[in-house]
Amino acid sequence: MDATFLAKVKADYPDIRFITGKRFTFRPPRTVVITENFDPRSDSLLLLHEIGHALCGRWTFRTEVERLKIEVLAWEEAKKLATSYKIAIDEELIEDELNTYRDFLHQKSRCHSCGLTRFQTPDGVFHCPKCDI
Ligand SMILES: [Zn+2]
Ligand SMILES: [Zn+2]
Repeated sequence: MDATFLAKVKADYPDIRFITGKRFTFRPPRTVVITENFDPRSDSLLLLHEIGHALCGRWTFRTEVERLKIEVLAWEEAKKLATSYKIAIDEELIEDELNTYRDFLHQKSRCHSCGLTRFQTPDGVFHCPKCDI
């Protein structure tokens, strides 16, 4: 597996637009940003994850919980792709990536007044069970 992996992925997904940038990102509906110094050994799974976003077809979220769900879905797609491309699945990397979203969810959920965990209604607004009643 080397630079030809990238060429193969690009050939396999002619509908996806691949561009280079600073970090791996998915831009709905069909653009995947690949880092300029793509290293197939460490970056293949990250690339497949962004393709996973394109394939899973869910991009919009209103709540942080939905956002986390979309990340999990994209990783599930990435794992299927990794199997078919014969790429090792690094569960630790996946957990680390998901943890950044979990941490983000925790930070955003914390009530600034009392420190309790707030909940988010489907409109995206956070509510504190103590302060907002
Ligand atoms: Zn993602
Ligand atoms: Zn509060």
